[in-house]
Amino acid sequence: MKKPLIMTPGPTEVHEEVRRAMAKDITNPDLDPNFFEYYKETCEKLKKLLKTKEDVLILDGEGILGLEAACASIIEPGDRMLCIDNGIFGKGFGDFGKIYGAQVVYFKGDYRKGIDIKELESFLEKDHDFKLATLVHCETPSGITNPIDKICPLLRRYGIISVVDSVSAIGGEPIEVDKWQIDIALGGSQKCISAPPGLTFLSISEIAWDAILNRRAPIASFYCNLAVWKNWYQEKWFPYTQPISNIYGLNCAIDRILEEDNHIERHKKIAQGVRDAIIKSGLELYPINGHSNTVTTILVPGGVTFDEINNHMIEEYNIMIAGAFDYLKDKVIRIGHMGENCYEEKIYITLKALDKTLKEYGIKIDGSLHKHFVNTQQ
Ligand SMILES: *Cc1c(COP(=O)(O)O)cnc(C)c1O
Repeated sequence: MKKPLIMTPGPTEVHEEVRRAMAKDITNPDLDPNFFEYYKETCEKLKKLLKTKEDVLILDGEGILGLEAACASIIEPGDRMLCIDNGIFGKGFGDFGKIYGAQVVYFKGDYRKGIDIKELESFLEKDHDFKLATLVHCETPSGITNPIDKICPLLRRYGIISVVDSVSAIGGEPIEVDKWQIDIALGGSQKCISAPPGLTFLSISEIAWDAILNRRAPIASFYCNLAVWKNWYQEKWFPYTQPISNIYGLNCAIDRILEEDNHIERHKKIAQGVRDAIIKSGLELYPINGHSNTVTTILVPGGVTFDEINNHMIEEYNIMIAGAFDYLKDKVIRIGHMGENCYEEKIYITLKALDKTLKEYGIKIDGSLHKHFVNTQQ
């Protein structure tokens, strides 16, 4: 199998240093006191990335585990939950809420735009009796980033616990957990962090801990129960055996991010360049506003199908891009410029291959995608 260049919006390319870190010799992570320190140190590094002094945990499961654990641990049957929905992941949060007995109320935004804070403000003026609200930082399938810096403080003013899915944003979009008053911020290893899939991590505010630890109804899960983690360090006890090799990889991947002067600027510049190239070439972006730093979503032009583009990209150039699913299936092409993918050379060869592919199928392009892109990076 010849490994393709993975230019998808997660999982992303993994740096050799991270792969080597994962190959290190292991100890017994349940019993070795050094491992408790190592796990704590990894959480401390995540705190730097998230700009928080609150607790951070790493859980053994893909990003979805974090979303479900937050819902399972906070929601009690009958609680009202506000589901802020302007995309597939936003809406999907409502389903997790229902599994754990929430009465879910949807605030539905335009699916091609970031959440309009004014509209949310007027909605909350009329109805704000919610225990929690769920929202998505970057809607990965549509490439839209939501203004969580404005939404979370607004929710806090109404005493609503904010649960933010930032899986595809952390490491590529700005996030300031404490300043923005985010109660739970959720991340995953396989997006901008550029470690292999398999880990989720989250920050938990005092307010969120209070809701988790002072419930009337018990938490209807063990693996999704965050309360069992409360004193892991004091008691030197993990609720289950930790995936030590994955945590080695995560620790190394975070080091790579923290060592860089400004990883957010790099994502911003590349994302802007990709969008400029798309627009100059006459193609159309899916989002109308709220363009993501980490993924670009392009409408499939008339006269070609997503499968044709995708197959040609793989067969001729060995480059893997992504389509989308649900209501966006076959409608968009996505390029992930996250973490290790987010470098000029990788984007250049991806856009060059996409340019040639589209031309091969007779699609009219003004100039060349890759040349437009290079001009934006001077
Ligand atoms: C990737 C991602 C997740 C994790 O879900 P998978 O599709 O299973 O990888 C959760 N939320 C968002 C916004 C994501 O992009």
